[in-house]
Amino acid sequence: SDPDTEETIDAGSLRTPIVAVLGHVDHGKTTLLDRIRGSAVQEGEAGAITQHIGATAVPLSTISEMAGALVDPTDFDLPGLLFIDTPGHHSFSTLRSRGGALADIAVLVVDVNDGFQPQTEEAIDILKRTGTPFVVAANKVDTTPGWNPQEGQPIQQSLEAQSDRASSRLNENLYELIGDLSGKGFSADFYWRVQDFQSNIGVVPLSAMTGEGIPDLLTVLMGLSQRYMKEEMSVDVAGPGVGTVLEVKDEQGFGATLDVVLYDGVVREGDTVVVGGRDEPIVTEVRALLQPRPNAEIRAEKQFERVEEVRAAAGVKIAAPDLDEAMSGAPVRVVRGDDEAALEAVKREVREELAKIEVD
Ligand code: GDP
Repeated sequence: SDPDTEETIDAGSLRTPIVAVLGHVDHGKTTLLDRIRGSAVQEGEAGAITQHIGATAVPLSTISEMAGALVDPTDFDLPGLLFIDTPGHHSFSTLRSRGGALADIAVLVVDVNDGFQPQTEEAIDILKRTGTPFVVAANKVDTTPGWNPQEGQPIQQSLEAQSDRASSRLNENLYELIGDLSGKGFSADFYWRVQDFQSNIGVVPLSAMTGEGIPDLLTVLMGLSQRYMKEEMSVDVAGPGVGTVLEVKDEQGFGATLDVVLYDGVVREGDTVVVGGRDEPIVTEVRALLQPRPNAEIRAEKQFERVEEVRAAAGVKIAAPDLDEAMSGAPVRVVRGDDEAALEAVKREVREELAKIEVD
């Protein structure tokens, strides 16, 4: 990459890469996300992992604690990873940002015993079409006959603890998976052998159930983002917020609200926003920005807590008047200032983006 741009990127202006989890039904997408969310509790660190609306943020400090010797945190200046909670390729293909995929990077979950299945193939086709970089999570290694589970350990440690018999059973499955990937036109290998992640797909053996290999997955995602996406992660953190609607939901006391993934800039209470609607872009004013309450307070009266502002990348619920006709998958944009021309320009952009989504 260009050394000049490397120098001008200010670490404070790099956003979190957005990660999506795809794969065939029952291959373990939900379990993997739950395990990543649950790790915060295990690490026993306050604020180790933050729950957002529709997403989970894992900061670099947590990744480096989980990964131990795998990660030197000084190698990274991206702040961490933001996992979109809604798994599945249906939501992936409808979630866009400026015509591309909303997710910057993806995890394709494949059950090591089951191998490629119809929805694995579909997911690969979508990743190819959108040009989304991905890694393969070869899940359920713990179901290998004779497996000796190593809770939460990096996969090499875990492999060292296995019998030759269990190792070779697992290897057979993994090589079959690597073969399936090559059948789809991807050169793939165990992630620790991959030098160039742009031309090779890294395969991470893991178990969403026991957590072994998850430190490796987080490390690989972090490394890939750092190496290949630093420029795309460079955003105007103080600029007007830009995001995509995950869902339009009725909430008691708020009426129709938007669950949004913000991928650029900042949104504040009171901001004017333009949202893609069924007929016309909706222009409204943010009444409240809401996040889930931390687990400890789950019995509190209200499910959400208000925040004054949210910075990309993040998931957030936006409460505002007139959102009934808003659409999931639609763009959301903040307009700052009273400039009528700026508002019209943003409305035009939102209309154009929506037209693009409807064509595809
Ligand atoms: P999804 O449909 O892809 O979201 O799959 P789920 O996460 O619901 O998992 C499907 C089933 O596989 C559930 O019964 C999980 O408990 C089980 N499962 C998921 N990951 C693992 C794993 O790593 N090891 C084992 N033994 N079971 C798993």
